[in-house]
Amino acid sequence: MSTLSRLTLPRLVARALLRRCPWCAGKKAWFRSWFRRYDRCRTCGLRWNRGQDGFELGAMTVAVVITGGSVMLFLSISIAVSYPDFQVVPMALIGAVIALVMPVLTYPFTQTLWSAFDLRVHPPTQEEFLPDTPVELLPVALTKAEEARAVKATDMWASPSGQGEKPS
Ligand SMILES: [Zn+2]
Repeated sequence: MSTLSRLTLPRLVARALLRRCPWCAGKKAWFRSWFRRYDRCRTCGLRWNRGQDGFELGAMTVAVVITGGSVMLFLSISIAVSYPDFQVVPMALIGAVIALVMPVLTYPFTQTLWSAFDLRVHPPTQEEFLPDTPVELLPVALTKAEEARAVKATDMWASPSGQGEKPS
């Protein structure tokens, strides 16, 4: 097995918090709009769901943690500040608004954050990228030995550009 160097979690998370591709830091990553996505990162070609069916379950977990955490934080602070005369109804209403608004505001970040954690635990393989992805965006990862092997095997990759011309 080749030795792939992993990106550090803080680096991956920092990119995710900027709504960038955690792997390549590409600005637009895979986002078409706030809620819609392209299949792959527009910079490095990495698939947003890594080809896993349950990927969105992880992103949903991030959303639950962020939203639940925000509501808990709000309730804790407002109880601490207004104790012992806290107003239950306004607090419950504001808590409900936070619970409704947070998932909308954080939607793309739940995707990038989950992707960051996933990439940290399972660094991508070269096969997850497109044939024309620039080498520097591949699992950076490639050791000198692998690079040398890649050069030798150029004949295998000689005509990847011709593949898309005639879909059968
Ligand atoms: Zn990317």
